[in-house]
Amino acid sequence: MFKYLCPDLYMTNILDINPALLKSMGVRGIICDLDNTIIPWDEDILQTEIIDWFATLKAADFKLCLLSNSLHNRVNGIAQILEIDAIPAAIKPRKGAFRKAVDRLGVDPREIVVIGDQLFTDIFGGKRLALKTILVHPIAEKELFWTLFVRRFERLVLTGLRRRGLLNDQD
Ligand SMILES: [Mg+2]
Repeated sequence: MFKYLCPDLYMTNILDINPALLKSMGVRGIICDLDNTIIPWDEDILQTEIIDWFATLKAADFKLCLLSNSLHNRVNGIAQILEIDAIPAAIKPRKGAFRKAVDRLGVDPREIVVIGDQLFTDIFGGKRLALKTILVHPIAEKELFWTLFVRRFERLVLTGLRRRGLLNDQD
């Protein structure tokens, strides 16, 4: 079970994920979560730093696709600003939408990384398809009641992984 919940990397700040790091991991394609990974779930405006981060990755020739459980309007609106592909209403961690994202990227699955803030959706979903994964700290403190509930279990798993020396923690 742990192997499906253990991210390849655990980063405090998504902005520290740069082309050199991704290349060292053998990555060419990126499946990126939306809410609380690149934007607080209750906001619609992207930070300039995040827009620049995507521009840098695109300029370095990485293929990008947003994969979000949020609804079409929100996801597509943000994807348009970033000028990247997106799959809304993904029902992560189900495999279907992850497979679709892999197809859209057109990159060997072994060269794809999933970046997201949630263990049980982003990391678990990516690992089920044997993709690389990077867990990032959530961008906002404020979260939905349900998310806060899930975070308690995430913390238990992360503590377990850390104790076993399995967590590649970049803090
Ligand atoms: Mg998220």
